Amino acid sequence: MKRLVCDRCDFEIAYKEDINLALEGQDAWEMACSARDEEPRGVFPCKNYRHCHGEMQVVTVRGGLLGRLRQKANP
Ligand SMILES: [Zn+2]
Repeated sequence: MKRLVCDRCDFEIAYKEDINLALEGQDAWEMACSARDEEPRGVFPCKNYRHCHGEMQVVTVRGGLLGRLRQKANP
């Protein structure tokens, strides 16, 4: 199961439809980054980007509590 998680503020997108929408915008984000000579860290800017400057990372969650713990242990 996939999630998108901000690498700065931990904002999380867990809805499949929202994830698909974000992934559709991935190319545009990569182009925007390369226009600024930056490497995208994630697939999309966080919705709080103005505050956190984070990017959404694709995280595969193996399920349940263990997946969340692993995620927290590896910031
Ligand atoms: Zn964020």
